Amino acid sequence: MPDCIFCKIIAGEIPSTKIYEDEKVLAFLDINPINPGHTLVIPKTHSEDLLTASEDDLVAVIKAVKKIAPAVVRGVGAQGFNLGVNNGEAAGQIVNHLHFHIMPRFEGDGFKLWGGRQYKEGEIDEYAERIKKFLISNF
Ligand code: AMP
Ligand code: ZN
Repeated sequence: MPDCIFCKIIAGEIPSTKIYEDEKVLAFLDINPINPGHTLVIPKTHSEDLLTASEDDLVAVIKAVKKIAPAVVRGVGAQGFNLGVNNGEAAGQIVNHLHFHIMPRFEGDGFKLWGGRQYKEGEIDEYAERIKKFLISNF
């Protein structure tokens, strides 16, 4: 994809701080980390998001995440990590090339991913039914 910043990183046309690479996957440090060591793991084949990526690429990326995340945690002395994918503009996706965020977490770092709200009486079952309809139709 000519205008994709992450494709340009893969092609070596713009610089990045790479920490891992294999046949299908590249990982590099996010330039605006929530904590030091915040890493982006991407498939080398362009796909816009999680839903349009091939299953092969998804498997390759998640396998790479499993290798990379412990190294990130140990490397920066974190106690844990969040794994995140922003899927779509409403969810905060800015770069339209699938990427998994590995975000190292430190006890008491104060970073809050989500607040959490409460369902009204009966609402949880209604929402479950609405979702399950689409799972059965399988699009
Ligand atoms: P998202 O909001 O999930 O699309 O996240 C995009 C991420 O890419 C942000 O956290 C940015 O800081 C990061 N980012 C954008 N450009 C670059 C770049 N050239 N090198 C490294 N990280 C980048
Ligand atoms: Zn791309």
